[in-house]
Amino acid sequence: MPNGVLILAEVVDGEVVAITNELVGAAQRLGAGPVSAMLIGAGVEGAAAKVTGVEKTYVVDDAALAQYTTDGYVAAAAAIAQQADPAIILLGQTDMGRDLAPALASKLGTAVAMDTIAMEMNDGKLHTTRPAYGGNARAVNSFSTEPAIATVRPKSQDAIEGGAAGAVEKVSADMSGVRTNVVDRQEASAAGVRLEDASVVVSGGRGLGSPENFAGIEELAKVLGGAVGCSRAVADLGWRPVAEQVGLTGKVVSPTVYIAVAISGASQHMAGCSGSKNIIAINKDADANIFKAARFGIVGDFKTVMPALIDAIKKVKDEG
Ligand SMILES: Cc1cc2nc3c(=O)[nH]c(=O)nc-3n(C[C@H](O)[C@H](O)[C@H](O)COP(=O)(O)OP(=O)(O)OC[C@H]3O[C@@H](n4cnc5c(N)ncnc54)[C@H](O)[C@@H]3O)c2cc1C
Repeated sequence: MPNGVLILAEVVDGEVVAITNELVGAAQRLGAGPVSAMLIGAGVEGAAAKVTGVEKTYVVDDAALAQYTTDGYVAAAAAIAQQADPAIILLGQTDMGRDLAPALASKLGTAVAMDTIAMEMNDGKLHTTRPAYGGNARAVNSFSTEPAIATVRPKSQDAIEGGAAGAVEKVSADMSGVRTNVVDRQEASAAGVRLEDASVVVSGGRGLGSPENFAGIEELAKVLGGAVGCSRAVADLGWRPVAEQVGLTGKVVSPTVYIAVAISGASQHMAGCSGSKNIIAINKDADANIFKAARFGIVGDFKTVMPALIDAIKKVKDEG
């Protein structure tokens, strides 16, 4: 009988990334049986010692998995799922998790709930909550098949701190059916903090009027140690890279502070930032939708508000 929770451990350059500890924390709090992890890649076995708070880490370590491919990782994850026989599988709502979870669900003949922001056990079954209708409503999903697979939004769950690593169990997966071959991989050049990891995000919208006016957004992000984001209108205009787009069809961020400058607050944009702890809006239109979600709002022209804000923050920082 399926039992326990299996989480996907994501490891980059030998280090366990934050979402892994958040998944372990969520899995432990569910209290749905033993928590185990799956670790997939090439040369990753050593990283198993860094996956803590789990009873066991299942490892598929294969040269064919050096680069992420859907078919390779599905083969590996399915082999682990067969071995571990979990009732629940949790993955991060990350680039990898978003791609892998539906394919894994299809392979295992079960269902998947994406973008979970809350979860609980109810009558022995996993119930997950996710934003719906562009963040205007919340949908609760339950499962009638096993294992229940869910992706979990980064920063929506408290991470475990410390804890011991689990026993390591190697699993061999049949890679003969893998047809994808990655011939090249280019890292997006990213200066400063990654958008998804930033505790402060400063986003600019179409109201900035030109790509040059993003200099103020960059400066504000820099003084606050944050990352730059943008609305889709801006990405569509080619003012900023699509990688910076926040929203339904962009990235989902949950920083402590989200500053929206000259962004109207369309529901599709809010779907990507409504999980922020504090939204601060700067907009010249007092009726802009963004003010409905904002904890603090400044009604005014960004051309006067932004320099004043940057100066004030610098002054506070200088005063220590
Ligand atoms: C299927 C679908 C998916 C989508 N996905 C996304 C998504 O992922 N992310 C996203 O952002 N959008 C998305 N959109 C688009 C979304 O509906 C909006 O069109 C978009 O968010 C608007 O961007 P904006 O707020 O920057 O621009 P606008 O709507 O043009 O708003 C500009 C704002 O700037 C203000 N402003 C103008 N001048 C100044 C000034 N001088 N000082 C201060 N404020 C000023 C204005 O008052 C206005 O509120 C999607 C739409 C669809 C249909």
